[in-house]
Amino acid sequence: MQSCEIAIVGSGFAGSLLARVLSILGYHVVLLERGAHPRFAIGESSTPLANLSLERLARRYGLADCWHLAAHGRWLSHHPDVRRGLKRGFTFYRHHPNEPFGNRGYDSERLLVAASPNDAIADTHWLRADVDHHFVREAVAAGVDYREQVELTHAVLAGESIMLAGRHQGAVLPLRARFVIDASGPAGFLARQLAIPSALDRTHTRSGLVFSHFEGARLFRDVVPGLPEGPYPDDWAAVHHLIDEGWMYSLRFDDGVTSAGFLLTPRGAQAMGSPDVEHAAELWTALLRKYPTIASAFGDATPIMPIAYRPEIQHRLARSVGERWALMPHAFAFVDPLFSTGIAWSLRAVERLALAFEATRHGSRLPDARTLARYDAKLREEADQIDAVVAGAYEAMAHFELFAAHAMLYFASVSFAEVSQRLLSRDDAAWSGFLGVGDRLLAPLPQLSLRRLRAITQSRGETGTAEERRAFASWIARAIGPRNVAGLANPARHNLYPVDLDGLIQRHALLGMSREALVDALPALRGMAKEPSFAPRSAANPATSPAAPPSPAPGMPAPH
Ligand SMILES: Cc1cc2nc3c(=O)[nH]c(=O)nc-3n(C[C@H](O)[C@H](O)[C@H](O)COP(=O)(O)OP(=O)(O)OC[C@H]3O[C@@H](n4cnc5c(N)ncnc54)[C@H](O)[C@@H]3O)c2cc1C
Repeated sequence: MQSCEIAIVGSGFAGSLLARVLSILGYHVVLLERGAHPRFAIGESSTPLANLSLERLARRYGLADCWHLAAHGRWLSHHPDVRRGLKRGFTFYRHHPNEPFGNRGYDSERLLVAASPNDAIADTHWLRADVDHHFVREAVAAGVDYREQVELTHAVLAGESIMLAGRHQGAVLPLRARFVIDASGPAGFLARQLAIPSALDRTHTRSGLVFSHFEGARLFRDVVPGLPEGPYPDDWAAVHHLIDEGWMYSLRFDDGVTSAGFLLTPRGAQAMGSPDVEHAAELWTALLRKYPTIASAFGDATPIMPIAYRPEIQHRLARSVGERWALMPHAFAFVDPLFSTGIAWSLRAVERLALAFEATRHGSRLPDARTLARYDAKLREEADQIDAVVAGAYEAMAHFELFAAHAMLYFASVSFAEVSQRLLSRDDAAWSGFLGVGDRLLAPLPQLSLRRLRAITQSRGETGTAEERRAFASWIARAIGPRNVAGLANPARHNLYPVDLDGLIQRHALLGMSREALVDALPALRGMAKEPSFAPRSAANPATSPAAPPSPAPGMPAPH
């Protein structure tokens, strides 16, 4: 019988990165993967909060590659072979059936929110086949016992351990682990094995997805020329096309491949004839036919893998920990790709679990019940919060004014989190709540917004009166006011939000900082801080204590 201290099921970036950190901390870790790398994975658009987590992990555990992968410029210099796309912000357009997108200058139904002031320190879209392969190779280099093409069939709690059983390359695999971490994503390995109940009824959001990767998609700015200049080139972003049936994402990689997919609400899917998985390509074509400007961008694009359809992508479990196990966020819950929350949330959980094991590695070597309960409570609240923000956004899609106003909630909470984490770097940043969880002012807003929106839309997609929409936008502006470090919800911006450092200085009091202290911190915020030196770390020296806790990291304050 083989045994290990920690078995991690699933080698997406979250499983591999956690396995690697735990190995560096001196744990004997086995990482089990059903497939084989490189392999396709969805979930590609990263964000500043994800990069902050990568930088903290880099500093704490000496992971130079994580530091380099946390900004587009550093990534290009150090890992040009790992494919990625430049992401300068979040772009939104509203389309109407059978009408070309209306270029009405500054009155266009268009929202751009910059996440970075320049390409060098910009975010990225991750070509997951390459990124996940990179992280699994690094895990192996750090001493992780990695096995792929493993078919696990059982997980049974047995006293002081969990017994895993299955097959590995044709041979029977029995493995005894003291602790199991489920990083298998929606496949939900432990959910099935331990019969963890579903809590999907807590989740408001429901959507289906039709998607692929494409070659030859045209830039939106070429399809709709003459739009007013925005804070960054529109297409180098997570591009969102809002439609009556839901929305579409379009993520461009630097090599020209575009990841694209339509998310359909239940009502939207019904309007498209309640499609089935066998007719994904037809569904794709029918959606393009209905939206002529999207068709101009994608009509001649070629899918480089079959277009696929998943009728419902949400899942949610009742809990994320047990005495000898824990779930990574993507195994615990998934809401929707709107606002790209998954990578940042997963990396935050990598940090939290790493800290939990780090704290006990010289003692019991396993996190205690209190720490696990803390992890569970955070994940539950955060899953609810992501859902409320996203459900509100779906409700708000009834009218672009409502959507642009509600989106400010998301951008206010992530920009406040980013700026405060960068400027007021605290040891417990990894445990701070995601999307305003734990913040007495921000935490209740998504639910309140959802309620107000439903009162306007009647949950039937009604657009409300101009007065109701104005009142909603004013409420949002007032509600985010005490946390609005990025100058959001400002009609003078015409929905085009750059990174505004001068505005940030003016708003220093919102961060509890003096003007002078904020000005002093600006070089670091502009990404001008020196790269830390990374002590080499490997399984050969696992007992060395982790690097010093993070000090203020370079980067920039940004609306997101
Ligand atoms: C449609 C969609 C779009 C998304 N877009 C974004 C986005 O733009 N930005 C963002 O931040 N997030 C996005 N997400 C979320 C993102 O995909 C997840 O946050 C991310 O993939 C989590 O990574 P992970 O490593 O935890 O799990 P995964 O990426 O799901 O990896 C799970 C791994 O486990 C393996 N596995 C599964 N079952 C078993 C088993 N029984 N035994 C062994 N191995 C197993 C799988 O083969 C896989 O390698 C999106 C999600 C979806 C569904």
